[in-house]
Amino acid sequence: MASLTPDWLEPGFKHIWLPYTQMQTAKTPIPVIAAKGARLILADGRELIDGIASWWTVAHGYRHPHIENAIKKQLETIPHVMLGGLAHRPAFTLAARLAALLPDPLERVFFSDSGSVAVEVALKMAMQYWLNKGQKARTKIVSFKGGYHGDTLGTMAICDPEEGMHAMFAGALLPQYVVDLPDTPERRAAFAGLLRTHANEIAAVIVEPMVQGAGGMRMMSPETLNAIADETRKAGNLLIFDEIFTGFGRTGKMFAMEHAEAVPDIVCLGKAISGGFLPLAATVAARHVFEAFLSDSSSTALMHGPTFMGNALACAAANASLDLFEREPRLVHALHIQSRLKAALEPLRAVPGVRDVRVLGAIGAVELDRLDKDDLRSRFLTEGVWIRPFGNIVYVTPPLTINEAEVAQLTSAIVKVISAVYR
Ligand SMILES: *Cc1c(COP(=O)(O)O)cnc(C)c1O
Repeated sequence: MASLTPDWLEPGFKHIWLPYTQMQTAKTPIPVIAAKGARLILADGRELIDGIASWWTVAHGYRHPHIENAIKKQLETIPHVMLGGLAHRPAFTLAARLAALLPDPLERVFFSDSGSVAVEVALKMAMQYWLNKGQKARTKIVSFKGGYHGDTLGTMAICDPEEGMHAMFAGALLPQYVVDLPDTPERRAAFAGLLRTHANEIAAVIVEPMVQGAGGMRMMSPETLNAIADETRKAGNLLIFDEIFTGFGRTGKMFAMEHAEAVPDIVCLGKAISGGFLPLAATVAARHVFEAFLSDSSSTALMHGPTFMGNALACAAANASLDLFEREPRLVHALHIQSRLKAALEPLRAVPGVRDVRVLGAIGAVELDRLDKDDLRSRFLTEGVWIRPFGNIVYVTPPLTINEAEVAQLTSAIVKVISAVYR
């Protein structure tokens, strides 16, 4: 009889270093041997409903046959070739399709392989835009408290400095302006004032439109997003939207910026871009940003080039994922998920200890006064759901194809666990 513990687990666990984990006390992680639709199948035969969609990437469920077939087909010709000096259909097609999907004038696509790098590229693009225009001092970035833009050195500096995961690195980071979201008239005035006072040193303002994800699933109104855009324009700075979490249907629209009127100069995409199959990210620039890099000299060219940029398999997966957004009512379904999350989670406001309930698209979050992560995580496992609270947030971001019964299983687990703990 096959053992319930796979033979690779313990030998590998002695050598693997896990993300955001105190390894001294880390329990052996849960071995997954298969995944299908919205479910993870564990080595011991149990199935979990996936409330996280593998860090928000799995838009169409695990193993969607259309994406699987596209990857298999791509494998028969080119798995990968360098993008320097060579061209291949998946990357070129994807660039044109992304440009067509995004609002004008966003039209130039620079590929990379992770979200953090897509943000790094956006920051470099913004700085070099000003350098190319002869404005050498404009190197600072303005970002917002509660924000998250990645784990690399450049991006850590624009994450929330206190509540983010990077406070200990403060001394090693470039000093940037991390300010309050302009969600009141006073804060808007302060934001506008900062942009005015430091106009000559600021390269760009960066924000996660509509929802700050890893910083705590904090949602903003379209008015706040428009205010950021308006003040940034007035000050003559570049505006970057980090849609790595919100893009590709997560908020009920293809891109979260569609909830408001604001259009950025640069947008970062990642996470769900390949439907959760392969690592891929993109930084998309507006025409006028791109044009600042055109000259007779190679010195104004964008100086970046990740080895695996535009990987053919990942781009084939992303093209197939876009096919599915075109063919299937994914965004309508995201709005169905939104209504079910609202109906099921809103009543939790009455539970003492529940501070807030927030829902947008296929994102549902319950903010608590305090929580014991490990205790809650094991209670959710008992309920047959994969939900991992962080900070003081219990949240779900399921695959956009999740069915009604599975959403109900996620929400009733949340209601049951929170009601039991905060009784
Ligand atoms: C996840 C995330 C990133 C970083 O992406 P990685 O692929 O983990 O490097 C950046 N910005 C936002 C908004 C994210 O959610």
